[in-house]
Amino acid sequence: DIFITRSFTILLVCCMAIKLSLCFSNLPSSFKALNIQGHFSFDKNEFAARDFGNQFHFLPSAVLHPKKVSDIAATIKHVWQMGPGSGLTVAARGHGHSLQGQAQAPQGVVINMESLGGQEMMVHGGKFPYVDVPAGELWINILHECLKYGLAPKSWTDYLHLTVGGTLSNAGISGQAFRHGPQISNVHQLEVVTGKGEVVVCSEEKNADLFHGVLGGLGQFGIITRARISLEPAPKMVKWIRVLYSDFSTFARDQEHLISAENTFDYIEGLVLVNKTGLVNNWRSSFNPEDPEQANQFVSDGRTLFCLELTKNFNPAEAANIDKEIESLLSQLSYIPSTLFVSEVSYVEFLDRVRAAEIKLRSKGLWDLPHPWLNLLVPKSKIHRFAEGVFGNILTDTNNGPVLVYPVNKSKWDNRTSFVTPEEDIFYLVAFLPHAVPLSTENNGLQYLLNVNKRILDFCEVAHLGVKQYLPYYTTQDEWRAHYGPRWEVFVQRKSAYDPLAILAPGQRIFQKSM
Ligand code: FAD
Repeated sequence: DIFITRSFTILLVCCMAIKLSLCFSNLPSSFKALNIQGHFSFDKNEFAARDFGNQFHFLPSAVLHPKKVSDIAATIKHVWQMGPGSGLTVAARGHGHSLQGQAQAPQGVVINMESLGGQEMMVHGGKFPYVDVPAGELWINILHECLKYGLAPKSWTDYLHLTVGGTLSNAGISGQAFRHGPQISNVHQLEVVTGKGEVVVCSEEKNADLFHGVLGGLGQFGIITRARISLEPAPKMVKWIRVLYSDFSTFARDQEHLISAENTFDYIEGLVLVNKTGLVNNWRSSFNPEDPEQANQFVSDGRTLFCLELTKNFNPAEAANIDKEIESLLSQLSYIPSTLFVSEVSYVEFLDRVRAAEIKLRSKGLWDLPHPWLNLLVPKSKIHRFAEGVFGNILTDTNNGPVLVYPVNKSKWDNRTSFVTPEEDIFYLVAFLPHAVPLSTENNGLQYLLNVNKRILDFCEVAHLGVKQYLPYYTTQDEWRAHYGPRWEVFVQRKSAYDPLAILAPGQRIFQKSM
């Protein structure tokens, strides 16, 4: 089924691409005539047809490398003025870490947002500190800039080499989200170029509908060009803790207790280890993979284990008290006592932890493989049923990549944004993050892993678990309608208000530009 659906999608896009290439044979000259400060490239654009998922590769006709926001506005206005019949689309490309071509524009125009990244970042101190950044900036650079002022953003992703525009178009979720909400809950203001080429500044107070629409809006309503992000005083150090459980119920109970407590850790995540062997796949397990002794502790050989990962931030002056505080928090938990592991690292080292693993995997040629990832949001009341049906049953091992599972509080999400969550006070992020070995027909091959994903999704549907996809991938509008549920009407209204010709972010496959 998956094979047929994928082949059909690819065939459909190829047909569109042929039609478009006939329509746009004079595209370069039309764009060359635009008065912009940056430039267009019309060849050597292969990078714009690649992403982290490495499964879909659609070349654009042109890539805009903007120097100014006005370059983006002029380009979109030009496409807008070509009218509904042109079929031409525009996709913002952040760092291209999408999974299924979401930042691609078949035969259209890709905007290389990182060209804007060189613009100034402006940190503002005071009681409610914030930073103004260009949306093509990587989170790692924002961290380093803010640290110069002793400040840092509050909410993160596990990996910081992603752009602000890319994560704010989704949500930006990590182990701080239970307390601060996702990254989309930590933004004060945005500058956006709409699908009509208008530059609009929006916030809770001004153009609020566009502001909320763009947050988690999958790039559908405008291209974010600048963002104002909330900051807090940055700690210098982190106590990084890992403990193991052999029983999912105890693991989940402890996680839920920790995310609901007043006095708790600063970061709470979890990992599932199913029949796990080997060291290289520990890239996201967060403990120094160079130390085989530590990494070895993750080998679960035939069993399913659950690893709770926690941090407590501190400054050197508070070092004396922090161990006592951690001891008291840990005493409330029911992990396997012999599995307590604590290390101490700088705040930057902790936040940028996946980078070290990336460098290692790159050196082995294991970073640019296909990544058939699946991210789900599972309501708390259904997580046990989910765990029972999936971990150790559909999922026979976690040797091809990590599986994350951790709860967040819905109260920290703003339901005026475009993001849809399950309808419960607590829901879990469950992330299956495998890499596929090319041409393998074994259980590390792409087709096998895509089938596992399909089995998981089918299981959720049949068992009526009320699961939502995160970083969603659907091929039909009916599926999108079901994803948004009662919020679909608002989504469609926003589309017709801000991008009525469906020019933007075609790679999400939600709306189609008429041709
Ligand atoms: P791109 O892939 O370039 O773009 C993503 C989508 O957003 C596209 O539709 C694109 O058109 C649109 N877009 C890009 N920039 C803009 C803009 N300025 N304005 C409007 N639309 C825009 N996510 C989490 O929440 N938590 C994690 O811990 C996490 N870890 C990750 C780790 C790795 C190794 C990878 C590869 C991804 C991870 N992600 C995580 C997912 C990540 O947040 C999304 O894939 C995100 O979109 C990537 O950002 P990007 O800059 O590469 O975006």
